[in-house]
Amino acid sequence: MPELPELEVVREVLQRRILGLAVDSVQLIPPGGPIVARDYTHRGFEQALPGTTVSQIDRRGKFLVLTFRADGPALFLAVNPKLTGRLQLAAPSDKRLARTHFIITFTGRQQLRYVDQKQMGQLYLTDRLGSVPEYADLGPEPFDITLDMFRERLRPFRGEIKGVLTRGQFVAGIGNAYADEILWAARLHPYRKRTQLTSEEVERLFAAMRSTLAEATDKVRLEMQENIHLKPRDFMAVHMKTGEPCPRCGTPISLVGANQRITNFCRSCQPGGLIKGM
Ligand SMILES: [Zn+2]
Repeated sequence: MPELPELEVVREVLQRRILGLAVDSVQLIPPGGPIVARDYTHRGFEQALPGTTVSQIDRRGKFLVLTFRADGPALFLAVNPKLTGRLQLAAPSDKRLARTHFIITFTGRQQLRYVDQKQMGQLYLTDRLGSVPEYADLGPEPFDITLDMFRERLRPFRGEIKGVLTRGQFVAGIGNAYADEILWAARLHPYRKRTQLTSEEVERLFAAMRSTLAEATDKVRLEMQENIHLKPRDFMAVHMKTGEPCPRCGTPISLVGANQRITNFCRSCQPGGLIKGM
């Protein structure tokens, strides 16, 4: 479940390592295309990409977008790793991780691989990014909006604040894990209704969103280094820290929910809300 901080660091690493490289070959595993790969060009990944060069690498929300250019129009590879996908840089001789589904080999033998334990993520090859599901209706990046814009964008949403934060149409790049971290930093209960938040609480939420994501990006950069298939999260304050002491007040961290939709918070620092499942 990479979110903004991890994907931002992956983008930085790819920028250093593969920008300007020419594609030698592409391999889909199993041949013909696993369910993660969608080819909107109908030319085939293996035919369309070789001979092109990586000309740009961007992150937008929870997508990484690689732009490939040759003589013709640009081609985009939009990677949405969702909960289980990750990218890996490797040499051809490196052992493949289980569930490697896609490999680009560049001239010079560097490889970019896509690994996905549960085939939940998607890779789209397209000449028009607007055709990629969930991409066209992404909201702004958290660092591109002001407090006033944040308030304005919040207004149409009436549900629980955690659910609002994780909606890409509201603000892009925040998922289940960093929503927990942001709400802890803002001292807001995850199940508070958006309509119940005071003006001062919304301001706190906006500030916490920016500080939490910026600090996490710095920590991920230090821990991940060039190992983009890793997902360093030990530094988190509450997410996946059930029962451990809250770093602010020492109260054991509470858990609600199960599997990949868990919510962690501190019931002392983040009071109120309708407590469901407790
Ligand atoms: Zn606490």
